[in-house]
Amino acid sequence: MRPSLLDPLFAEAATLPGVGPKVEKLIARVTDVGEGPPLIRDLLFHLPASAIVRQRIASLSELPETGHVIIEGVVERHEAPRRHSRAPFRVILGDGMETVELVFFNARAGWIEKLLPLGARRVVAGRLDRFDYRAQIPHPDFVGPPEEAGDILAVEPVYPLTEGLAPRTLAKAIRAALAKLPELAEWITPALLNREKWPSFDKALNLLHLPQDGEALGPESPAWRRLAFDELLASQLALLLVRASARKSAGKARRFSGARAERMLSRLGFSLTGSQEQAIAAIRADLRAPERMLRLLQGDVGSGKTLVALAAMADITEGGGQAALMAPTEVLARQHFATIAPLAEAAGLKVALFTGREAGERGEKRAALAEGSIDIAIGTHALFQETVTFKDLALVVVDEQHRFGVHQRMLLAAKGAAPDLLVMTATPIPRTLVLTYFGDMAVSELREKPAGRQPIETRVASAERLGEVVERVRLAVEKGEKVYWVCPLVAESEASDAAAAEARHKELAEIFGASALLLHGRMKPAEKDAAMSAFRAAKGAVLVATTVIEVGVDVPDASIIVIEHAERFGLAQLHQLRGRVGRGSKASSCLLLYKPPLGETARERLKVMRETNDGFAIAEADLKLRGEGDLLGTRQSGMPGFAIARPEFHGELLELARAEAKLILAHRERGESAHEEAVRALLYLFKRDAAVRLMRAG
Ligand code: ADP
Ligand code: MG
Repeated sequence: MRPSLLDPLFAEAATLPGVGPKVEKLIARVTDVGEGPPLIRDLLFHLPASAIVRQRIASLSELPETGHVIIEGVVERHEAPRRHSRAPFRVILGDGMETVELVFFNARAGWIEKLLPLGARRVVAGRLDRFDYRAQIPHPDFVGPPEEAGDILAVEPVYPLTEGLAPRTLAKAIRAALAKLPELAEWITPALLNREKWPSFDKALNLLHLPQDGEALGPESPAWRRLAFDELLASQLALLLVRASARKSAGKARRFSGARAERMLSRLGFSLTGSQEQAIAAIRADLRAPERMLRLLQGDVGSGKTLVALAAMADITEGGGQAALMAPTEVLARQHFATIAPLAEAAGLKVALFTGREAGERGEKRAALAEGSIDIAIGTHALFQETVTFKDLALVVVDEQHRFGVHQRMLLAAKGAAPDLLVMTATPIPRTLVLTYFGDMAVSELREKPAGRQPIETRVASAERLGEVVERVRLAVEKGEKVYWVCPLVAESEASDAAAAEARHKELAEIFGASALLLHGRMKPAEKDAAMSAFRAAKGAVLVATTVIEVGVDVPDASIIVIEHAERFGLAQLHQLRGRVGRGSKASSCLLLYKPPLGETARERLKVMRETNDGFAIAEADLKLRGEGDLLGTRQSGMPGFAIARPEFHGELLELARAEAKLILAHRERGESAHEEAVRALLYLFKRDAAVRLMRAG
C-alpha cells in the first residue's frame, strides 16, 4: 500500500480551490497524464522553464527603457477609441512626475472603467515598452488597488501552457498543490547528494515553483536535475526489480522444430529480409534457451516486425503453448488480427481477438482461452484484465511498447508461468533511451527495408497553398491513388485554430463525396472499423484522420499522406505518420503543411523529414532537437512516461541513476535497507509502484 504520507499528493487536482471541471481538463492536457484525472502530484511535476523577473519602480520618473515592472499611480485619463475604430483603449496612469499609458486592444469600455476608474490609485504589473518615446504597458499582467500589491510575484514562474488555460489559473493551482507537499525522508544516498550539492526533493520543488530569482530555473538547474534524477532513479529501480524477478522466475526451454513457422512464411509470396531472418533466429535461440526471453525488436515503420512476431508465435504454439499479442489501440489490434488470423488459421491454429468491445461474446472466448483451444490471442489492454486467463501462456508479444508502461507489461506477463517476452517498437530508440525504458533487454534491429519498397518523397509547404494541395490530391485520386489526410486535433477541442478533422472532412467530402472518410479517436469503435474498411475497399479514396492512424495502420495501397500543422508534431510522430505510406509497390509521397511563421526547431524538424527516411537517423536528430517551447499540450516534448527528465539535458544522469539503483538494491540484499521506506515512497511518487510489489515479494 502507498505510504499515507503521500496521500495528499495523490488527491485529484480538482480538489484544489479554483480547479473546476474545465480547468481540470486543461490541466490534464498540459500535464499529459494519460489515463485518469490529473493529480496534485502531476501539477507539482509540471515545472516552469523560466520566470518573469519584475522590477519594483518607486517613482515613474525612474522607469527603465523596457522590461517587466511593478508601478503605482493614479488613473488620470481614459482615451477610448472611436466607434468601429481598431485603435486600442488607452488609460493614462501618473504619479505627478511622469505618466505611463496602459494599452488595451479589443477591450470593453465598461470593463476598463471598472478596473481602472478615473482618479483611482492602482498598482500595475506588466511589460514596459516604448512607442514613439512614450512609456506603454500593453495588456498588463496585473491591475489592482495598492492593498493587493502583495499578490504580485516579483519573480513569477512561466509554465508551458495549453490553449485556454490562463497562466494565473495554473500558477495558482500549482501554488496550492505546493502547500500539500509533505516532508519526505531522503532516498538519495548521502554521498551522492553531497557530491552533487542537490537540494532535497521538497526544497527542489519549492525552488522551481516559487523562484526567488530568475537564474536558478530551467532543466539545467540543480533543483530540476535533482528531480530528473529522482525520476530516472525510480524508473531504473523499477526496471532492475522487474528484471530481477523475471530472472528468478526461470523460463522454460521451449521445444519446436520451426516447421510450422516456415510453412506459414513460405506462403507469403515474398522472402524475408536478412534482418528479419536474423531476428527470427535470435528469437528462436532465446525461446529454446532455459532462461526467460526478454527481447526488444526495434524496426522502423514498415520494416516487417509483425511477421517476425508471427514466426515466434507459430514456434511457441508448435511446442503446445499459447501466445498473446498486445497492441496499444483497438484499430491496431484489429489490423494485427486481420493480418495474422488468415495466415495462422491456414496452419491450423485458432486465433481470437480481445478488445474492450466484445463484451457479449467474450465469455465464450475467455472459456476457450482458459481451456487452451485458442492458440493466439490478439488484443488491447483488455487482454490483461483479471478475468482473462490462459491455459499456458508461453509468449507475450507487446507491439509499440513505449505506449505501455512497465506496469502493464508486467500484468500481462504475470498471466503465464514466466512467459517469454518480445517487445516491439516502431520508433527506433537511441541506445541511451533503450536503457531508460527497457533496462538491459536483448535487442534485435530490423535495419533493412523489404525489397521493392519505393522511396517516399517528402515535401514541405505552407498551409497557404492548401488550394493547390487539394487539387493535387484530386488529380491523384482520379488516377486511383489513396490518400491519408492528417489533422492534429478533433473539433471539440478548445484549440480553435487547429484544422479540425471533422471540418476538413466536410470540406473534402464536397469534392470526393462518399469516398472521403473520417477517422478519429472519439468515434464509436464500430464507426472506426467501418471507416477503415471503407478506406481499404476499392472505393475508398481519402481518409481524413487524427493521429489515431499514427500507430501501425497498414493499408499498402495508400500512397499519399498530407499532414496539416506538421509544425506541431514531433519528429518521431511525423516519421510514424509518414510510415503509413510507402508500404506497397507504388511510389509514395508525403506532404507536410505548416502554418507560418515557423519556429526554428520546427523548421529544423521539417528539414530533417525532407532529407531522410531513416528512422534511426531521425531518432538521433530528434534527441538533439527536442527542447521545451514546442510543448503544445500533447506528447511532443520530453520522453513518453517521463514528466521531468529530458534526454537532451539529463542523458548523463541516467548512468548515475542506474548505478544508484544498483547500489540501493545491493544494500537491500545485504539487509542494510536503512531507507527502504524512502525508496518505496520514491517509486510511488513516480508511479513505478508496480515494482514495489516485486520488492515485497523479493
Ligand atoms: P512494421 O510493423 O514493422 O511497421 P509490418 O510488419 O506491418 O511493418 O509490415 C509492413 C508491410 O510489409 C506489411 O504489408 C507486410 O506484409 C510487408 N512485409 C513484411 N516483410 C516483408 C518482406 N520481407 N518483403 C516484402 N514485404 C514485406
Ligand atoms: Mg507494426
